[in-house]
Amino acid sequence: MKKIMLTMLAAASIWSSAWAAEKTFSSPDGKLTVTVDDLGNAASYQVKLEETEMVCRSPLGIKTNMGDYTKQLTMTGCEVKTVKESYDLRTIKQSHVDYEATEAVCSFEQGGKKVMDIIFRVSNRDVAYRYQLYPKGDTRVAVVESEASGFQLPDVTTTFLCPQSRPMGGFARTSPSYETSYTDDDKMGKNGWGEGYSFPCLFRVGSEGWVLISETGVDGSYVASRLLNDGGSLYRIGFPQPGECNGWGATSASVALPCATPWRTITIGRTLANIVETTVPFDLVAPKYKASQEYIYGKGSWSWIIGMDSSCNYDEQKRYIDFSAAMGYQSVLIDAFWDKQIGYEKIAELAAYGKTKGVGLFLWYNSNGTWNDAPQTPIGKMDKSRERRAEMAWMKKVGIRGIKVDFFGGDKQNMMQLYEDILSDANDFGIMVIFHGCTLPRGWERMYPNYVASEAVLASENLHFGQGSCDAEAHNAALHAFIRNTVGSMDFGGSTLNKYYSADNKRGTHRVTSDVYALATAVLFQSPVQHFALAPNNLTDAPAWAIDFMKTVPTTWDEVKFIDGYPGKYAIIARRTGTKWFVVGINADDQPLKKTLTLPMFEKGTELQVYADDTQLNGSVSTQKAKKQFTITIPKNGGLVIKN
Ligand code: CA
Repeated sequence: MKKIMLTMLAAASIWSSAWAAEKTFSSPDGKLTVTVDDLGNAASYQVKLEETEMVCRSPLGIKTNMGDYTKQLTMTGCEVKTVKESYDLRTIKQSHVDYEATEAVCSFEQGGKKVMDIIFRVSNRDVAYRYQLYPKGDTRVAVVESEASGFQLPDVTTTFLCPQSRPMGGFARTSPSYETSYTDDDKMGKNGWGEGYSFPCLFRVGSEGWVLISETGVDGSYVASRLLNDGGSLYRIGFPQPGECNGWGATSASVALPCATPWRTITIGRTLANIVETTVPFDLVAPKYKASQEYIYGKGSWSWIIGMDSSCNYDEQKRYIDFSAAMGYQSVLIDAFWDKQIGYEKIAELAAYGKTKGVGLFLWYNSNGTWNDAPQTPIGKMDKSRERRAEMAWMKKVGIRGIKVDFFGGDKQNMMQLYEDILSDANDFGIMVIFHGCTLPRGWERMYPNYVASEAVLASENLHFGQGSCDAEAHNAALHAFIRNTVGSMDFGGSTLNKYYSADNKRGTHRVTSDVYALATAVLFQSPVQHFALAPNNLTDAPAWAIDFMKTVPTTWDEVKFIDGYPGKYAIIARRTGTKWFVVGINADDQPLKKTLTLPMFEKGTELQVYADDTQLNGSVSTQKAKKQFTITIPKNGGLVIKN
């Protein structure tokens, strides 16, 4: 009986393949090729880089309460055209982008009626797709219950993934907050801690190349998603967990028709260059509103990372305003409990004082309504429109430049709407926004012009909290450069020059990385506003060359180039602003990193400043003439900066 069944299935598949539709289209340079088909009456796709299969044949489809569009589908055709767009964006890795891609709109029918389009974009670096749903008779709203969207990786693939945490866990039941550790070069077939993985997800396809999977264009009209694995090499899109946001809200997406879902993005390359340099999160989205004013980006200081909660007092913040002014910085970030420990009137005084010194204030807020136990204040000011707008009107009156909103409740649609509401309200009052304890930004730099950066990483606070994080600092940085920070601005809050994470610089967790490493990560980590973990005492106790560098390091960039690196081991990248190039490297490997680099951005004979470490991690700066090739050595936990 079993044998007969198998034969019948085989016959059925031959029969359907005879009728299956298949369409192939390629990137503008012809190297990335996507094939879409409806074999077996379901939608599937595969991606090749030249002749190499990088994403094997993988499922597509979407399940809604007006129809299950994961089966009984027929592809009626794909309309293919070239899409070109140019845009400028100061807040990302590249200030001007000329985007070109092949767009294919593939239409699917069920029972002879069109039910959806799957829209593909294939640029020279990236493949992206999304679903377009349409009204059905009088049905003009729908619930998207799940997606079949999958990513079948080749068998040789290893993974660099960080587990999604369970909801309502961790500090004051604030998880998931996208602050988990990666496992390097891990086997496929696992599912994190049982709940999959946070985006972006990096895969190494043996010696063939790299694949980075993420998503973009997520706002209040959908849920944010994660990557799940049921065992094996197929990863699939997962919607939020029921317990997120203290159980409030559905795990599904409620949509108005017609509706285009967020883009699933796949960045592919032989080396990590395409992943470091990709602009796909921004290419596929559009601004949702205009900037209400020209926002001021730049550098700032932040007492909390060294001095913790007790440092959020009037005198210390005044001292940090003076410190920022001495550094030529544009801002000071005042962290939690300022409402109690400083008060609104005195904050207004500090803002006025800062203004006389050219230093603006960022203020910390708790996002919380009902979704976790975080006790930090101000609380109850950001979760509802009336309170939020009243607070922001006060901020505008006293001249607050930005906010850092912490402790969000997950990825459900209600939370995505809250992110969007905070951003759009803040823009009305000319306020920039940084998110912490939060999800990954998904194209938000372009969608929301007053959006600055998100945490969504094991950030510098962990260096204060535990020696283990200090010991792993370089290892983690060598991951972020190729994973987290490639898809969005990352508010890490680093570049520490204290030896210890304490105000007296004598006790607490101990920094094991070098001063040159601190300089290198100021460039390696990208965010248009950087609040560094520097302290006023660093003006006298840190090397003058390090302070001088930190005074002038840019935070906005025109271009980024991958030079060399391996996730978790070492990273060498270059960033450009105007005609100035900064080539920076860090090393986490036990062995000193020895490399011969060709750096064509520096014309032979150009005078360069080279910041380097000796074997004991003692840094120094020297002036050198650019040559054809540079022989470099970076010790473990050390750094390198070469700039013109
Ligand atoms: Ca955090």
